[in-house]
Amino acid sequence: MSELWPLPQDPLVAEVRAAVERGRLAQRYRELDRAPEFPRAEFRALGEAGLLGLTVPRELGGRGLPPTRAAILLFHLAYLSGTTFAKLSLQPEFCSVLGEHGPAELVERWYRPLLRGELLVGNQVTEPSAGSDAAALALEAAPTAGGYVLTGEKSEAAFATEAEAAIVYGRRPGSARAEGVSAFLVPQGLDGVRRAVAAPDLGERWQRRGSITYTQVHLPSDHRLGEEGEGFAYLQAELARERGLLAAIYLGVARASWDETVRHVGERMAFGRRLADQQAVAFPLVEDGAELEASWGFTVRALERLEHGEVADADTAMSKVRATRAALTTLEHAIQFHGGAGYSARYPHEQRWRDVRSGPLGHGATEVLEGVVARRLWPRPPRR
Ligand SMILES: Cc1cc2nc3c(=O)[nH]c(=O)nc-3n(C[C@H](O)[C@H](O)[C@H](O)COP(=O)(O)OP(=O)(O)OC[C@H]3O[C@@H](n4cnc5c(N)ncnc54)[C@H](O)[C@@H]3O)c2cc1C
Repeated sequence: MSELWPLPQDPLVAEVRAAVERGRLAQRYRELDRAPEFPRAEFRALGEAGLLGLTVPRELGGRGLPPTRAAILLFHLAYLSGTTFAKLSLQPEFCSVLGEHGPAELVERWYRPLLRGELLVGNQVTEPSAGSDAAALALEAAPTAGGYVLTGEKSEAAFATEAEAAIVYGRRPGSARAEGVSAFLVPQGLDGVRRAVAAPDLGERWQRRGSITYTQVHLPSDHRLGEEGEGFAYLQAELARERGLLAAIYLGVARASWDETVRHVGERMAFGRRLADQQAVAFPLVEDGAELEASWGFTVRALERLEHGEVADADTAMSKVRATRAALTTLEHAIQFHGGAGYSARYPHEQRWRDVRSGPLGHGATEVLEGVVARRLWPRPPRR
């Protein structure tokens, strides 16, 4: 566990290191916590460096890396500069429904510029009364001559007032659950769109989350992504892929704190001995190191299964669950063993903890994901 894994000598890692140094990304990570804003300049620079859309196919303008390779890069980006830029790197993956199912003109107008970091596309699934149970979403997409009229409210969305466009999930009037849900690309400047940032968040403050209200918003029919009624299925496929990549980010940032804490307790003296000489300090760190590494192995295995075209949604779901748990425990120990200063902004551990704390909530809450896996183990008996 002493050497930084995975693969510090990989050429991808040298590339990441250069981008982090060039953009002062470690400092910017800290600054964006104190003065939250969407980091346009850094987003553009990531695009220019080929660090947006690592797993997006080359034909679409992405990097075309297999998920296991992308995970190495994301791990190191998070290790060196926190969660912000690694998560931004995944924004094209979070919008893969546009890239994969959007008409060619929309891909050209919105997806390729997103991959270059020139404009921002958000995702709007959650509503005030439909979060974990996303299939209960109510935003109405009523067909009209030549298009749709959108009415309803989205909430909790990242980049609420910042995104130039968003992938919005809405349902055909009269439909129920997943069957009636379609995905739409909605430019956020359309008449009838009202946006507001909500209360400040615990972490990831640069995302400036908020709500978006649609009042009789007219949308041309060519802004529907893929088939009518297939939106929910597209979203599920996307989430299954991105959860494994998110796990790599949480492990990277936690490993940074682990390394720094191992160093700190090896030097800090109390009661005439190093902190590391106290078993109560040393053993949790030994366990954290092993947990982070085991979780990395689990994540890579899940991503390999994806690469081989196997059904891996339960594996990637559990890699996010495991990674966030291991990361939060490690970060909690980093704060504790740095003492009073660990609780302050003098060290980055408290910010990292606050940022990673969104992990068990976003992209599927831990309990919901474990519920999905449990139903695979114990399928419900058919109704008589
Ligand atoms: C940092 C961050 C960024 C986000 N960005 C976006 C975004 O860009 N776009 C977007 O649409 N949404 C976004 N979200 C919203 C996120 O997807 C939702 O918060 C999440 O789906 C949970 O929904 P909810 O908040 O309504 O919680 P609820 O559905 O009310 O659930 C609350 C809690 O109840 C428990 N729970 C729920 N269902 C079950 C169950 N079946 N079994 C056991 N326990 C359960 C879980 O602990 C869950 O956390 C973001 C959230 C965060 C924190």
